[in-house]
Order: sequence, then C-alpha cells, then structure tokens
Amino acid sequence: MEHARPRSVDIVEVGPRDGLQNDRQLLPTPVKIALIRRLAAAGLTRIEATSFVHPKRVPQMADAEAVLAGLGDLPGVRLSGLVLNERGFDRALAAGVLHEITFAAVTSETFSQRNQGASVRENLETWRTISRRAGEAGLFRSITIAAAFGCPFEGEVPVARVVELARAAAEIGTDELSLADTIGVGTPRDVEDRFGAVAEALPGMPLRAHFHNTRNTGYANADAAIRSGVRALDSSLGGIGGCPFAPEATGNIGTEDLVYMLDRAGVRSGLSFDELRATTLWLEEQMSRRLPAQTAHVSPFPPPVAQAA
Ligand code: MG
Repeated sequence: MEHARPRSVDIVEVGPRDGLQNDRQLLPTPVKIALIRRLAAAGLTRIEATSFVHPKRVPQMADAEAVLAGLGDLPGVRLSGLVLNERGFDRALAAGVLHEITFAAVTSETFSQRNQGASVRENLETWRTISRRAGEAGLFRSITIAAAFGCPFEGEVPVARVVELARAAAEIGTDELSLADTIGVGTPRDVEDRFGAVAEALPGMPLRAHFHNTRNTGYANADAAIRSGVRALDSSLGGIGGCPFAPEATGNIGTEDLVYMLDRAGVRSGLSFDELRATTLWLEEQMSRRLPAQTAHVSPFPPPVAQAA
C-alpha cells in the first residue's frame, strides 16, 4: 500500500470518446478533429480519439474513420480507440493511425449484456482474440474493468469479483489494466481497497483509473488512486461524458480541474493548464453551453503577475 503521491502521472484524455459519445449533440467531424489537435497542443500524449461501435447504437461515434483520417499522425501523441468486439477491432486496425486499443470487460452479467451484448465469459473470449491480434499488430493493449465500483443494474460489486476479472483479463494478455467507476459511485476508500487488491494480485501491472464525477467524489478518487499506485488517469476536457448504457452516469472528471489539482500538489502531468482552459472555452462555444468542470470559469490562481513595461 502506497500513500505518497508520485512525481508525475500520465493523463489519458477521453473527452473525444467518452465525453462526446453520450452527448445529445452530434459534433461535426471537423470540430472533433480540431478538438483533438488542440488537446495535443495542450500537451496530451495519450488521447482516446473515438470508438468503433455500431453506429446505430452510438451515432456520435459513427465518424470514427473520418476523424482518424483527418488527424493523420500527430507527432508525440498516442491515439487510442475503444473496441468492444472483433468487428470493431477490424475497423480500428484498418484505420491505420492508432497506437493503442482499449477494450472493456464488465463485472456484472446484466451490464455486460447491455453494454457489450455478450456474457462476461463470452466477452473474455472476445478479448482473447483481440488481445492476440492487437499484440501481433504491435498495438498497445489496455483493458478496462468497467463498473468496477458498482453496477447500475446489480448494485454492489464485491472486490473479489473485480480481482477475479482483472486476473482473468491480465492472464489473457494486456499492457495496462484500468478500473473504471462507470457510474461514479466510488469513494476514496473504495479506490484504495480495489486498487490495493488488484495491485497485490497483479504485481508490476501498470494501472490506470477512470472516474466519473456523478457524486462529486471523482477528484478525491483520482488523488486516492495516484496514492495507491495508479500512474495513468482518464479525464475529459470540460468534464463532458457519460455512458449511453448506464442510466444517470454523468461526466468524467475534467482534465483542467484535474491538472489544477495535480499542479498544486507538485505532480507533473506535462499539460498546460492555460491551454486546456482556453480549449474548454472554445469547446463551450462549439457546443453552445457551459460544461461541468469548474476551473475554466473562475479566475486563474495564482493570479497572473502584471508584466513590467
Ligand atoms: Mg466512462
């Protein structure tokens, strides 16, 4: 069990995928491309750009190929795509510019059926195939244990269930393992317990965390995660986000708010707070509304020092 904060963490921007997929608004492809370019300019080196899911189920992501084609190769940025089945993986591979794929394994049968259209066991078999093919293609593989803190349909998820699924997914093969609080029910103690148990079961496995701020515990959870050995945190610019198959799930923790917290704690993320802030204000213009994260809407702190003439 660790309690000290690390010197640095990686932030994985999931706004273009988790953020936009649940929004009623369909953002035009050129705006998505501009958003991802701005995120890269703000210093993000890992960006979940899109997902390869059925366009009828998630129409917001129907332009996955067009977004990636428009981006091309962004120097210094690892682009990732979410895939949930082999058809999606084929599309991701064909797109050509991805460095990473993310796959989700769900802790409960009901949520697994609704989110993936497959049982927990069938879904792990799909991961077996995708993990092998992604490895052969030289892609970085990240698996997410979804609903790792609670299920929207079945309620409490035992820690032992999370560990069992994490172990099964890791034995199949992955380069990183994430625990996701898909519906934003976790608290810092849950974060310590769950990441502690997974770290003990899978020593040396790089750990990543994905928090939604549904109950305002997201940022406290992020701090608990980096003090529990997690070295990669998901967030979305402006705190946009949700899950189309999890009722009431609200946005991810906001990238600029997370960076403010990390900067003030001396934890390096390599991101420019000022550029993130400006990009949130730009995205709010594109979406014609205020986004949930806070720090773009208040005075910078510390206040900028007036330059001598
Ligand atoms: Mg999510």
